[in-house]
Amino acid sequence: MKILIIGAGIGGLTTALALKEAGHDVTVFEQVAEIKPLGVGINLLPHAVGVLFGLGLKAPLAATAIDAKEYVYMNRHGQEILADARGLAAGYAYPQYSIHRGELQMILLEAAVKALGAENIRTGHKLASFEESAGPRDLAKVAARFADRAGRSVGEATGDILIAADGIHSTARARFYPDEGMPKWNGAIMWRGLTEGKPFLSGASIVKAGWTRQKFVVYPISRRHAAQGKALINWIADLHTDSHDLLAREDWNRPGRLEDFLPAFQDWHFPWLDVPEVIRNASAVYEFPMVDRDPVARWSFGRITLLGDAAHPMYPIASNGASQAILDAEVIADSLARHGDPVAALRDYESRRLHPTAEIVRMNRQQGPDVILDMVHERAPQGFQRLDDVLPKAELAAIVGKYKKAAGHQQVIR
Ligand SMILES: Cc1cc2nc3c(=O)[nH]c(=O)nc-3n(C[C@H](O)[C@H](O)[C@H](O)COP(=O)(O)OP(=O)(O)OC[C@H]3O[C@@H](n4cnc5c(N)ncnc54)[C@H](O)[C@@H]3O)c2cc1C
Repeated sequence: MKILIIGAGIGGLTTALALKEAGHDVTVFEQVAEIKPLGVGINLLPHAVGVLFGLGLKAPLAATAIDAKEYVYMNRHGQEILADARGLAAGYAYPQYSIHRGELQMILLEAAVKALGAENIRTGHKLASFEESAGPRDLAKVAARFADRAGRSVGEATGDILIAADGIHSTARARFYPDEGMPKWNGAIMWRGLTEGKPFLSGASIVKAGWTRQKFVVYPISRRHAAQGKALINWIADLHTDSHDLLAREDWNRPGRLEDFLPAFQDWHFPWLDVPEVIRNASAVYEFPMVDRDPVARWSFGRITLLGDAAHPMYPIASNGASQAILDAEVIADSLARHGDPVAALRDYESRRLHPTAEIVRMNRQQGPDVILDMVHERAPQGFQRLDDVLPKAELAAIVGKYKKAAGHQQVIR
């Protein structure tokens, strides 16, 4: 089958690799002229890592990422609420990886160039319009037209199906849902940065401290730094405002200003990490609003479907943004293998992925497992002597277990 993929992000490139391996003729179209390793740290859940290992990426991932051992929840005083084992340490068949998003994208890109040929990854091609031709099903095709960033036509392509993995501002999604408008903002701003520092806690811990209105998330993302006894620390300082009106379209590369958030974290000194120092020593700081979109009823329209953030944009919390796009890639390849008819295959993919991802969008809006931080903050704002008096163990385990089940990462436990 001839397959057109729109977007060379994490979802588009993983899908390209999975479909090429299944024997399809795949071309990827990306709007930017040059793919650069942008972004800061992200996490890949074990089931998503399993998909990437299956595509032959074990060696480059293991050489780049940190194999996360635990997820530690703390109150704003740095008192531990929960240390939840992760990845191999939790008995999963695959590690959970903390990795630089740009490095992950480059690993995928290198593999895609090798598998598809550089000529089949067409940068400077922004999807402008598309249509499915009418006619008997076996003759039907989908035609897409592309433009450069200035809007000048750069060509057309025809395929059996089109997979739009073109992110939260998807052109394809906007065609199917023309009234949707801007993403929804919950009032939180995330300032994100990378700081070279010393390893902390286990050396492979993800820590989330604070509560809904003020949080600090921190984890190391570089195996190369770890090998030199250092840590490349990814951090996210999260503050809630009471506004819900996005003044400008969000942008992962928008620079942030220390004066907008550092004062709020000025006295966050933990024995194992000095938060203001980490913030001040960052090589760069970016500002991003916590946005998502409402789940939609359909992704697949004839020979066209949505994938990754184009299908289910969600808050970038609890490691699901990239992980769910990778799982989409695995399922769409499987659906196409099961069904000879592309329209039936895309419907099958949607039926397997839409509800689970919509559930994660909704759970992330309820703060996912982070509700435990709020419970502790509300019950003991000045800190606690014994956690069990504030949040009993059974209550804690039930909340965390429910979220893991929804995100699907209980299924690959050994
Ligand atoms: C530059 C950038 C930096 C990011 N940094 C972070 C980060 O630090 N932390 C985090 O949690 N998440 C980050 N994300 C989002 C994260 O990558 C996604 O949430 C997740 O990986 C799902 O990936 P995706 O492939 O669906 O979408 P994305 O990774 O957003 O990829 C979509 C791709 O489609 C391309 N595209 C968009 N419209 C068109 C069009 N009309 N025609 C052709 N191509 C198009 C985009 O240029 C992009 O390459 C970033 C995304 C981008 C694009």
